Amino acid sequence: MINYDAVIIGAGPAGLTAAMYLARANKKTAVFEKLTAGGQLAVTPVIENYPGAESEDGFTIAETMRKQAVKCGAEFIYEKVESVDFKNLTVTAGGKTYCALSIIIATGAKSGKLGLKGEEELAGSGVSYCAVCDGALYRGREVVLTGYGDRAQKDLNYLAGVCKKVFYVTQGVFEGESRENVEVLQKCEVTELVGRPLEKVVVTGEGIRREIETPALFVDVGIKPDGILFAGQLKTDSNGFILTDSQMQTSVKGVFAAGDVCSKTLRQVVTAAGDGAVAAMSAIREIKSSPREQK
Ligand SMILES: Cc1cc2nc3c(=O)[nH]c(=O)nc-3n(C[C@H](O)[C@H](O)[C@H](O)COP(=O)(O)OP(=O)(O)OC[C@H]3O[C@@H](n4cnc5c(N)ncnc54)[C@H](O)[C@@H]3O)c2cc1C
Repeated sequence: MINYDAVIIGAGPAGLTAAMYLARANKKTAVFEKLTAGGQLAVTPVIENYPGAESEDGFTIAETMRKQAVKCGAEFIYEKVESVDFKNLTVTAGGKTYCALSIIIATGAKSGKLGLKGEEELAGSGVSYCAVCDGALYRGREVVLTGYGDRAQKDLNYLAGVCKKVFYVTQGVFEGESRENVEVLQKCEVTELVGRPLEKVVVTGEGIRREIETPALFVDVGIKPDGILFAGQLKTDSNGFILTDSQMQTSVKGVFAAGDVCSKTLRQVVTAAGDGAVAAMSAIREIKSSPREQK
């Protein structure tokens, strides 16, 4: 068994910030990452809304965060965490078991996809899953938003305030307020993406086929946490996101959560980093109060 003060699962902005705070406080900290440090941030071409980084590529910001955490003394273990024993605070990865006085879950979330041809390659080149992140890149342009639910409604309002015109394509029936610069195509869906980068989307519905010239398609078909590690073990909201209190404490003592994996209203780099800092400070208090630390 390998012992740490704190184990962090996930090296996105939430995990990296938590690692920096814990290691700076001289806590023996391990960060597990199954892919690349930086998480979603590392694959974001331009970030314009992270304070201090006016217009930088996400990978560069993520790399700076990682280096800061390493400089403070955090240890990175590039393995997928396979399971967590929340009662005994142990984590299994790469065939080994690690024991901690506190665990921070920072495994992020994933946006739903349309499953269209070329969608993956166009992510960041015209297809976006985050209106608050990328809407301002299309200020004064005509864009398309497709999706459903409250989040799509909020994003429609946001985009309508920033862009010249928004075509809102929904498979359901639109029940929101009409706006001058919003054209609703209800009972329709986006069925084709044209151009690399995006130049046009094809929308089809009952007896309708329309080609809309646009540099941007925003997709809002749900966002899901990677819940396999904690499903049934930690309290979550109805969508599977972890419920925490204001100190990022989960329903299990010694276990904290931070970033997109949490039940929250705004999933951004700045909020993930903020959660990470709060979770780390809570973990530090937990570590200090543990019988091992007090010996
Ligand atoms: C295309 C795109 C553009 C965006 N643009 C912006 C923007 O402009 N501004 C902004 O503020 N936000 C933006 N965001 C959102 C922002 O990137 C996220 O809110 C932020 O990265 C969330 O951080 P996180 O640390 O909570 O999770 P993530 O960044 O998702 O990181 C989670 C990490 O956990 C790792 N992980 C998961 N499970 C395991 C496991 N079992 N074992 C080990 N590791 C694991 C994952 O590999 C990942 O690296 C964008 C997101 C995307 C996808």
